[in-house]
Amino acid sequence: MTTTLAIANQKGGVAKTTTVASLGAALAELGHRVLLVDLDPQACLTFSLGIDPEDLELSVHQVLTRGLAPSEAMVTTEDGMDLLPATIELARAEADLLMRTGREQVLRGVLEDLDTDYDWVLLDCPPSLGVLTVAALTAADGVLIPLQCETLSHRGVGQLLDTVHDVRRFTNRGLEVWGVLPTLYDGRTNHARTVLETTSDTYDLQVVEPPIPKTIKFAEAPAAGRSILATNRGNKGAQAYREVAVGLAARAGRAAQGA
Ligand code: ADP
Ligand code: MG
Repeated sequence: MTTTLAIANQKGGVAKTTTVASLGAALAELGHRVLLVDLDPQACLTFSLGIDPEDLELSVHQVLTRGLAPSEAMVTTEDGMDLLPATIELARAEADLLMRTGREQVLRGVLEDLDTDYDWVLLDCPPSLGVLTVAALTAADGVLIPLQCETLSHRGVGQLLDTVHDVRRFTNRGLEVWGVLPTLYDGRTNHARTVLETTSDTYDLQVVEPPIPKTIKFAEAPAAGRSILATNRGNKGAQAYREVAVGLAARAGRAAQGA
């Protein structure tokens, strides 16, 4: 059974892309078959996993807008995950899909027709609540919200949850919020802890543990074209993502048993 998770937060710089790459690598380490989908025209996920978007002729854009078979655009990363890469062309997807009936369903349809049985599909959402994010939420079983615990972070979460609510009503009844994942976390400060508590209390959200600590190594990994799990195996951030992956796998296992 495949578990599809959208990693979403319309705020930029909260570690969505880092989370997709690192969790993907951690799940692959556990022996799971993992597909990552880059849904951000900035193509940071694609680039950070060692693929130069400028070298690509085919990408997720043609898959979503022109019915290209995903296998035609798919690449395998050195970290072991498959990737449906993005290029800047994806910036046009919003416009290209605008007049299309059922555009919210386009990604779901693509994923349903995949030939490979993945255990996980992780969707790296762009920093907006536009068509691509809605398509990701429509295709997903769950949404994981990376949260940088600083002042006003919670405001964006409210808007995202409004969108989740609409998606549940109109396009994907089964969408579940898996919780907030504290990222870039400095647990030494009361401030970070307070923001986290306020956010989870206000919106009744589960906090996915452990928090991902802030560490400089994350900034270095993308330049190497590998996830931090490969570049800094023993790093505390890499280790935190491994622990989160184990928790997510347990949750997916419970869901598969029909709990
Ligand atoms: P988003 O996809 O939400 O825009 P990114 O994953 O691109 O966010 O992360 C934004 C920046 O923060 C990147 O430069 C990334 O390397 C850095 N970063 C992510 N997670 C951490 C962390 N735990 N510690 C330090 N820097 C991080
Ligand atoms: Mg990103």
